[in-house]
Amino acid sequence: MKYASVPLNQNQNGWLKEDLLSTAFPTLVGNTQADWVVVGSGFAGVSFARRLANHDRNLKIILIDAASAAESSSARNSGFIIGLPHNIGSSTAELKKAHSYRSLLQEGINQLTTLIEQQGIECEWENVGKYHCQVDTTQERVLKEYTDNLDTMSEPYQVLEKESLYQKLGTRFYNKGIYTPSAILVNPASLITALANCLPENVTVYNNTPVLEILPGNIAQVVTPYGTIKTAKIMLATNALSRELAPVISKQAAMATFASITAPLNPEQRRRLPAMSSWGLTPVNAIAGATLRYTQDHRFLIRQHVTAALNGRITAAQTYRATQLHQRLFQKIYPQLGDVPLTRTWSGTISVTRNGAPVWGALGKNIYTAGGCNGAGVSKQTIAGTLLADYALGQDHPLIGAMQELGKANYLPPSPILDVAIAASLMKERYLGRKEI
Ligand SMILES: Cc1cc2nc3c(=O)[nH]c(=O)nc-3n(C[C@H](O)[C@H](O)[C@H](O)COP(=O)(O)OP(=O)(O)OC[C@H]3O[C@@H](n4cnc5c(N)ncnc54)[C@H](O)[C@@H]3O)c2cc1C
Repeated sequence: MKYASVPLNQNQNGWLKEDLLSTAFPTLVGNTQADWVVVGSGFAGVSFARRLANHDRNLKIILIDAASAAESSSARNSGFIIGLPHNIGSSTAELKKAHSYRSLLQEGINQLTTLIEQQGIECEWENVGKYHCQVDTTQERVLKEYTDNLDTMSEPYQVLEKESLYQKLGTRFYNKGIYTPSAILVNPASLITALANCLPENVTVYNNTPVLEILPGNIAQVVTPYGTIKTAKIMLATNALSRELAPVISKQAAMATFASITAPLNPEQRRRLPAMSSWGLTPVNAIAGATLRYTQDHRFLIRQHVTAALNGRITAAQTYRATQLHQRLFQKIYPQLGDVPLTRTWSGTISVTRNGAPVWGALGKNIYTAGGCNGAGVSKQTIAGTLLADYALGQDHPLIGAMQELGKANYLPPSPILDVAIAASLMKERYLGRKEI
């Protein structure tokens, strides 16, 4: 098994505070051995390694990353920790699946809550809920379907019209929104970096150590540029980059999305807005629309634009295009803040499956994976990693059944058919959501 490419984002994550970079781990130099090698230090890899290590303190576990936790999509995301599934559907089977999904997300949140309390992690954690907003007034059914789903799940919510939204968000761009209390906002880079820094002692972490090849066998060999690890078992937590494995795990496609952050608003700029505390907003159309946040330190975050990430790579030119899109959009949403500059734009990859089901479980003898995040992964990949460790060790957990109920990802064709299909699907979504930006 070979990785054809390793991640490359030609841009810098705007959530990163300088001190996070100084906590990087060494590169693997020389040959070594382990009981387990975990590849990828995002939420899935870190939670898997922690669970495994806590089950058996005698296991020697190595966690490696082509870059680092601070550079993963887990650090580059918008920082919404979601406790509810978005689309539920109407059949009994779909409802059952939605209940399973909610239980998984809630348990992911519980685990993160326990860890940040135990470890005293500072990550701007705020239990403030989120707004799900729509611009287009001709598509009432979209939010109606959303509230019907919330009713079905007996979840509380509040409907807000344009003027009430203005008081909360400082913009009249949106015509309607649904507030749900079940979401947490964080600085994702602070969270994942801290989680990678407080792993049990029997986990050794290496950064800037891309896995190039895995030679299978009773004792497999994990080949990296400056050293090879002999190991009995492997967990692949490479999410979008798993597409780069050959032979291909053909059920995942790699996409990328972009985020920008503004400079902090000064007191005079803040007076142009209603008095607001921090908030988060998701769009009704996640492909075309913008996710927005107003942070504790008075900055705006915009996450918008989704594209295929061929070979997991995003170029400086693609990033620049996203900056321009975000700049125009920010001015449209906040015309009163024309003098507030964007200070950074960055990208991150996500793994998408055809039917939205994860790629979770054993891939072969002694090789496991938890991928297919489908764009939401803080709580989801945390619990997916934890449960996979239990599953791999043959430990019972009441939520393993819930994980399996999410189903199996469908087959995806190889490139270039896949690339054409992704381009067509993105084009369709952008057209459908064109009034949301
Ligand atoms: C801009 C953006 C906004 C998002 N917003 C949200 C949000 O608000 N809420 C939410 O829940 N989700 C959000 N997501 C999705 C979320 O970030 C992902 O679902 C989550 O990070 C997936 O976690 P993971 O551990 O599976 O993979 P990743 O975080 O992608 O980690 C995979 C790791 O594998 C490493 N790797 C890859 N290939 C190799 C190799 N060959 N050798 C060694 N290491 C390798 C990578 O370097 C990386 O560190 C967003 C994503 C993006 C990009």
